[in-house]
Amino acid sequence: MASVTLEGTTKRFGSFTAVQSMNLAIRDAEFVAILGPSGCGKSTTMNMIAGIEAPNEGSIHFDGRDVTQVPMDRRGVGFVFQNYALFTHMSVRGNLAFGLEVQGVPRAETDRRVGEMAEFMALSHRLDAPSASLSVNEMQKLAIGRSAIVEPSIFLLDEPLSNLDAAFREKMRSDLRSLQRSLKQTMVYVTHDQIEAMGLADRIAVMDNATLQQFASPAEIYARPHNTFVAGFIGAPSMNLIPLKMSEGAATTPSGPLQLDARLQAQANAHRGSELLLGVRPEDMTLSDTGISARTILVETVGRRRIGHFDLGTTRVLGTWERSTPLAAGDLVSLMPDLAKSHLFDPKTGLRLT
Ligand code: ATP
Repeated sequence: MASVTLEGTTKRFGSFTAVQSMNLAIRDAEFVAILGPSGCGKSTTMNMIAGIEAPNEGSIHFDGRDVTQVPMDRRGVGFVFQNYALFTHMSVRGNLAFGLEVQGVPRAETDRRVGEMAEFMALSHRLDAPSASLSVNEMQKLAIGRSAIVEPSIFLLDEPLSNLDAAFREKMRSDLRSLQRSLKQTMVYVTHDQIEAMGLADRIAVMDNATLQQFASPAEIYARPHNTFVAGFIGAPSMNLIPLKMSEGAATTPSGPLQLDARLQAQANAHRGSELLLGVRPEDMTLSDTGISARTILVETVGRRRIGHFDLGTTRVLGTWERSTPLAAGDLVSLMPDLAKSHLFDPKTGLRLT
């Protein structure tokens, strides 16, 4: 059982700040994904939890116990890296048994747990094979199995699936989820793949530029992004951000006036500046007679979706519909955002108005 708490945790490399004042409270047995673009500080955050890097400021607690100064090998965390480090001179069985043997687990129990893990990972038929003879997919499975078998109360995985092919990745995603459910471990999972994070995690910590941007459930992050970074980063295609000019309480888009609903109007009235951004997901755009006029620039059909790209005065927006929706490049249309699902953002701070 272990919760993980970071308080004001900062990591600098020379004058460069890789992680800035991170506050993160991960609950016991929670599956948390740390998600963000390359270089935003995900791995550094993970390395501080593992004890590989020491923070310059702030603290790390496991279950209320301060572990900031505790060395890596005494933190009791399991860690799987992107580049699996297997004992290539050992068999699959040897790799799986290693951690249990170090812990002094009796032989019979080791055999039983190795058998169970091999079965779970579909490696039973390869138990006596040298691990160097495994495929890339199998090696990564073994790396995960080898760390999971000792049942660490905190299990850290840094991009564990990124070297694997797409079909296998999907299978491993669901295996990891059931592994975590059955072992009831606290799992922290670093990824730059939002689909992975959205599908796996109880909560996602979205990072950008060394800073935590939002920490919430996938549904919350999708429906109510905290700021324009999260709005743009989560969802594909990403949320439209339509500039609005406010004058005497009325909103104008680059392509004409837009009547806000009562909730958005109240938020706009309470806001001091005269400029706002209206955030609307492409699937929350409707084709209606009473919306904003737009010219269709491009229409793509992707799977069951039709994606329209529109010119809205000085800005471009996207809308997605069923593939049967009649729409062609050059069409003049009228687009109406579903205002109940839309948000206003302050263009200066990027923050969502509430
Ligand atoms: P990626 O997905 O590319 O691995 P990340 O979000 O995990 O990115 P980090 O690996 O945490 O990012 O790195 C954050 C920043 O800190 C990067 O700009 C990186 O170059 C820098 N950095 C990381 N480790 C060191 C180090 N040991 N010395 C100097 N700079 C470092």
